[in-house]
Amino acid sequence: MTPAASIRFDVLTIFPAMFDSPFEQSIMARARAAGLLDVQTHDLRQWAHDRHRTVDDYPFGGGAGMVMKPEPIFEAIEAIQPLAPERATVVFMSPLGRPLTRAVVEDLAALPRMLLLCGRYEGIDERVREHVVDLEVSIGDVVVSGGELPAMLLIDAVARRIPGVLGSETSLAEESFDDGLLEYPQYTRPPEFRGWEVPPILLSGHHAEVDKWRRRQRLLRTRDLRPDLLGGVEMTAAERRWLEEQE
Ligand code: SAH
Repeated sequence: MTPAASIRFDVLTIFPAMFDSPFEQSIMARARAAGLLDVQTHDLRQWAHDRHRTVDDYPFGGGAGMVMKPEPIFEAIEAIQPLAPERATVVFMSPLGRPLTRAVVEDLAALPRMLLLCGRYEGIDERVREHVVDLEVSIGDVVVSGGELPAMLLIDAVARRIPGVLGSETSLAEESFDDGLLEYPQYTRPPEFRGWEVPPILLSGHHAEVDKWRRRQRLLRTRDLRPDLLGGVEMTAAERRWLEEQE
């Protein structure tokens, strides 16, 4: 799928200030300055109905913790959608969601606009999930305290796919997971550090040999560290034989 030329994220959260610093540095800051990425945060409490700006309540049926009320969330989404011409895909950050893999990130990067809903407390009223959320995304099989950090991870991973956000297109092509393989080992100067030497092939200047070495290192690492990924990888017969010979 082709990535969108630029992407707008609207983030609905009770902690909008958490989003300031991560998007003011480095690659994400440059992407925003270049108009490739737009991140707008919205404080959910703006849509609370009472003086205390309450957005949570006790769970029906009893039990520990609080649940986010449906009214402020629905009203917020209805107010945020018209803020840009494209309809935002409503994404709820949730342990029930699709795990955030390269494939999911690529699908999301084709969308022009997303509204990320960040849960807090024990979670949100089920009617939000059923009637206004388009998609749920999880950062992995672990529970964190809120949807904010997961949303930041999603934005970062998706923004890197927008053409022009990374320095050169090759930095994407050779990264981990892009062709189903982990990255090869990297070295920089000095060539010898505390007696540990850089593999001589990397200093040889033979580009074809370097490429071959890197490709084989990727195969080896993937087999050793993430054998679950290896099934989807295309290999030549020679590579397969080589890999079988390695301890
Ligand atoms: N009681 C819930 C967890 C609530 S944690 C459960 O057992 O599933 C509070 C919020 O943090 C969630 O609503 C969600 O928005 C966010 N969150 C927690 N873990 C997450 C994960 N792995 N991926 C994405 N969001 C997560």
